[in-house]
Amino acid sequence: MGYGPRDAGTPDDRSERVYLVGMPDRDASPSLPFEIRHSPIQGFGAFATRRIPAGVRLIEYTGERLTPEMAEGRYPDRHGERHHTFLFAIDDDVVVDASVGGNDARFINHSCDPNCDAVIEDKRIWIETIREVQPRQELVYDYAYVLPERHTPSAKRRYPCSCGAATCRGSILKPKRAAGPTRPSA
Ligand SMILES: [Zn+2]
Repeated sequence: MGYGPRDAGTPDDRSERVYLVGMPDRDASPSLPFEIRHSPIQGFGAFATRRIPAGVRLIEYTGERLTPEMAEGRYPDRHGERHHTFLFAIDDDVVVDASVGGNDARFINHSCDPNCDAVIEDKRIWIETIREVQPRQELVYDYAYVLPERHTPSAKRRYPCSCGAATCRGSILKPKRAAGPTRPSA
C-alpha cells in the first residue's frame, strides 16, 4: 500500500489499534464513515463504510495553500501529458496542494455522476454528500476543473475521465453550459 502520511487520527485510542499492527493503516481516522482502498476509477478511492445520508459534511480538503503561480511552477502543465495532481483551486488567488499536508480527501475520485460535492466556505474546501450513499459505494464528486485556456479536445484529452457513469462526459474539465452567459464579463 503506502499512499503517504495521513492526518491526525486518534492517539488516545491505541489499545484498540494493536491488532492492526502489520496491516494497512486503514483506521487512522475511525470516525470517518469511509475508508481508502483501490478504486476501479483510478488509483485509490474513498468508499463508504456505512450508510451516509445526503447533506453530510465528510472531510475538509486540506493541503498547502499556494498562489496559482506557485502551483503552476510546481506542476508545469506539459503539453499532451495526462494531468495528475492533487491541486484544488479555491478561487483565483488560492490553490490547495494536497500532496503537501493533505488528508484522505485527496483520494476522493472524480465522477460525472457524483454523490458528493465540494463546498467552499471561508476559503476552505469541504466534501459533502449530496445523495444518500450506501455502504461500499465509492464517494465521488465532480472536479469540474477550469483551465485558463479553452477547453479544446486536446485539453480534454489531458484531463480524461474514466468514471464509468452512463452520463460520463469523458473529461474531468468543467462542462460548457448549454446556453446563456455563464461568466461575469472580465
Ligand atoms: Zn466521467
